[in-house]
Amino acid sequence: MFFFKKIPLFIAFAIFLNSSENIGSSTVELPPTREQFRESNRLEKGLTNKEKTDLKRSHSAVIDFDGQIAMRHIENLTSFGPRSPEYPRAKLSTLSYIRSQIPPSMSIQLHEFDANGLNGTNLWVSSRVEKKKSNTLIMIGTHWDTRSVADRDTDISQRNMPVLGANDGASGVAVLIEVAKHLHSKPPGVNVDLIFFDLEDLGNIGNNKYAIGSSKFVKENPKYRPTTGIIIDMVCDRDLRIPREYYSSVSAPEVLDRVWDSAERQDAKVFKNVRGGAVIDDHIPFLQVGIPVVNLIHFPFPNTWHTTNDTIKFCRSRSLSQVGRVILDFIYYYDLNQTIR
Ligand SMILES: [Zn+2]
Repeated sequence: MFFFKKIPLFIAFAIFLNSSENIGSSTVELPPTREQFRESNRLEKGLTNKEKTDLKRSHSAVIDFDGQIAMRHIENLTSFGPRSPEYPRAKLSTLSYIRSQIPPSMSIQLHEFDANGLNGTNLWVSSRVEKKKSNTLIMIGTHWDTRSVADRDTDISQRNMPVLGANDGASGVAVLIEVAKHLHSKPPGVNVDLIFFDLEDLGNIGNNKYAIGSSKFVKENPKYRPTTGIIIDMVCDRDLRIPREYYSSVSAPEVLDRVWDSAERQDAKVFKNVRGGAVIDDHIPFLQVGIPVVNLIHFPFPNTWHTTNDTIKFCRSRSLSQVGRVILDFIYYYDLNQTIR
């Protein structure tokens, strides 16, 4: 991913326009406004005992997200080597590793695509409920590829080396795999897709842009209209800090509010309720077609970003578990709120 030191207003404005235009379309089921959400929180006080028990159960279930197991996924993923186009064998091993970790109750589709002479594969995992139960669909995404060159390395001689992507790539995958296991053992009452995007991180290398895989996904699945979504990226650093990313806050503030309410409930201190940078990541293609998807990303980017130091040495289980708990809380709480309403 990439960030702008100064936010180019024309881009921000274009995204804003685009999303507000489409947001009125009947194909999108909108999350509640901040006022509606506050109202539903207020209503919680009048819950029946059964509803209160359900609430407690859903929250205690998410507390036990195991950051240590997520660390083990990062260790395994990085052991295959860099996951950029120059390493097809590592890419195959990574795809089969992710597949092997997904519980059998979920379906897996591969979305293969060509872009700029490169082949990419997005891995699309779905957890579904009966149609009459819910038509809400939550998309949680991350990128699984790595950057071909460590062009931010302080050592100039290392700048042609590949990035291993413990944080930038593997951390999001690790969290999503564990989220999948939780959704299997305690199925929520909403539909959930977990999407692992390829070719996110080749921006400004040759003619490549950032977020190729997610752009292709949105373009080649024009009927895909999740209710809401979250992209996670770079979530394992020992000093993890996630502020409110700029484009997300402009185009999908109500989704960010829900995330920060989850962070509050889960006491996840890595989430900072302050404005972050303007980041180009896999949420942008969704925002451009009016789907409210936000980006949860470490900002300012850590020193290991796009360097040969992006290794597990700088990852911590406590960072992964906070993000995992917040994602699960977001999903289960969405479910709970739709039953209340
Ligand atoms: Zn990156």
